[in-house]
Amino acid sequence: MRIAVTGGNGLVGNAIKAIVYQYPQHEFVFLTRTNCELTSRMSVLTFFSSGDNRFDYIIHLAAKVGGLFMNLDSNVEMFSENIKINENILFACKKYGIKRGIFCLSSCIYPCNPSRFPMDESMIHESPPHHSNEGYAYAKRMLELQCRQYNKAYGSEYICVIPVNLYGPYDNFSIKNGHVIPAIMNRFHGEKAKKDGKFTVYGTGRPYRQFLFARDFAKIMCDVLLDNKYDNTEPLICCNDETTIKEMVGSLADAMDISRDKLEWDINKSDGCMKKTVDNSKLCKYYPDFKFTSLQDGLKETYKWFCDNQTTLRQ
Ligand code: GDP
Repeated sequence: MRIAVTGGNGLVGNAIKAIVYQYPQHEFVFLTRTNCELTSRMSVLTFFSSGDNRFDYIIHLAAKVGGLFMNLDSNVEMFSENIKINENILFACKKYGIKRGIFCLSSCIYPCNPSRFPMDESMIHESPPHHSNEGYAYAKRMLELQCRQYNKAYGSEYICVIPVNLYGPYDNFSIKNGHVIPAIMNRFHGEKAKKDGKFTVYGTGRPYRQFLFARDFAKIMCDVLLDNKYDNTEPLICCNDETTIKEMVGSLADAMDISRDKLEWDINKSDGCMKKTVDNSKLCKYYPDFKFTSLQDGLKETYKWFCDNQTTLRQ
């Protein structure tokens, strides 16, 4: 099969590049801003109408994304850009005969006050998301709705996968806009040089989060798309164990060789959503033998990559 991967330069796009050797009978083509601007209908149609750009399947990763503090600042853009990207991609998929695909959502689109924890795949639209990221969340909820409608109307097989907080090499390490792991890694790395300084973490450390190594997620997506084990088109949650921000930052400090005694908490900064635990029983049913990378190993590998790629990393 020939597979288009949107968001080819991002965290997950690069994680797919690292594992394509495991799928030698398929050809993956990675789309980036340089070959196709996904917010522009004209650019998308120009790209997909070219005879060189015919695809059987798609993995749609591209989105405007950011951590808690970026979402708080730019809910308007998060909604508008993501709606445009998804609308254009789905339109092109239908027009150019892409019958099957994986479409990436996120567990942060889930209700912030759900009727129960852990939340499963049926609860995406149950009640409003956390106000901090409602622009992103509603745009992604609409992607789920649209995939369902396309499948029903046109017989496509568009499957929405729902990862938890992803991290790994090639992340966006922006201190201001990044997600918690890359943002803190970058900040602490800069502060390490200062002798005897404290390392400040935002919030109370009490929120719970589930973290997933991007390469694990890449593998799950490619398997769901290609191995025929996943025999339906319903959304699928992809996650590993849950931890508190405090425990995660402790492990990150260990990976960076920083003493945990030097961590301090700025409780005047937002905690965001306190808990958004999702349930991976469906994933475990279809992939009972999947081996997840431990948070400790994933953080060590990410920090090594971060140190080795100082001149080119996104920040
Ligand atoms: P979220 O999981 O969608 O809320 O997004 P993040 O990946 O940005 O994680 C936010 C959580 O990490 C909140 O509980 C923040 O209080 C906490 N946190 C602690 N320090 C930082 C930081 O430097 N950057 C970010 N983005 N979050 C931080």
